[in-house]
Amino acid sequence: MRRIPFFLPMKDCPNRCVYCDQRTITGHGVQPAPGEIRRALQGAVEPLETCFFGGSFTCQPMDRQEEYLEVAAQAPASSRIRISTHPLCVDPGILDFLSRFPVRFLELGISSLEDKVLNLCNRGYTGATAVERVSLVTDSTWLVPGVQLMTGLPGQDPSSSLEDIRVLAEIKGDRPMQLRIYPCLVLRGTPLEELFLSGSYTPPGIDESARWAGRMIRKARESGFELLRVGLQETASLGEGVVAGPHHPALGELARSYALALSLVHRARSGPWSVPLSYRSLLSGHGNWGFRELASLSEIAIDEVKRLVTWTR
Ligand code: SF4
Repeated sequence: MRRIPFFLPMKDCPNRCVYCDQRTITGHGVQPAPGEIRRALQGAVEPLETCFFGGSFTCQPMDRQEEYLEVAAQAPASSRIRISTHPLCVDPGILDFLSRFPVRFLELGISSLEDKVLNLCNRGYTGATAVERVSLVTDSTWLVPGVQLMTGLPGQDPSSSLEDIRVLAEIKGDRPMQLRIYPCLVLRGTPLEELFLSGSYTPPGIDESARWAGRMIRKARESGFELLRVGLQETASLGEGVVAGPHHPALGELARSYALALSLVHRARSGPWSVPLSYRSLLSGHGNWGFRELASLSEIAIDEVKRLVTWTR
């Protein structure tokens, strides 16, 4: 189904997270008016997914939310709506309100479930609150929940992220849950930039960040999550606004490479490995990054690792 995304940058956020500048990340500085959304949907004949990203949709005044949702609900029959929002702006009353519209997906930007990390990032809630809100959405019978986690946050490490996935998998059980993984970047003008410049925060490098997310991908796949995205969408404003951090247009692909290398080594510590041909670029791309990681994980020389891989159709 075709997706039509709209960005509501930092709209009505309950507080300012230390790393965030949605305008820089998305390249969208101005909130689209409902009329713009109506125009964008006009003429559509096939069902589509209208997505409200980039902010805290359900933190807006109810009449404003209603305006947006009513416009989106005029899309062709069987169309659906995806909303990304803040965990503090989700409660039974909000879910009841959303159920009047064809909202099918509700994503919560929870970043982390660890209190120390949430505190350092000024997220404004605890891990227990995030768990409660994710559970609320997951327990609804009509919504598919989504969670957005981050890597490389102040005070965070890979084991904290893996624990987050474990807790979320417990909430999920055998129900669907979607997942996005974003790296924390140091953006110009944010409080995180000050922490970085003062030496209080050091972001992980690109390789480290890709391995971090790769471990999360592997665990998430094992637990049955649907992985929607790893890494940020590259935009001109993002490129201009990044001061430090794992900024790489193919970070998601590197993370998938590492997840593949991990699963191969898990399957057979020293090979040989049969790998679908469609995964070839995951191992050979970016200067053999995946092959190099496989060599490192298996403690086998890279030339030998290459000989141990056979491609299957
Ligand atoms: S990360 Fe999300 S909640 Fe925090 S300031 Fe940015 S848009 Fe708002």
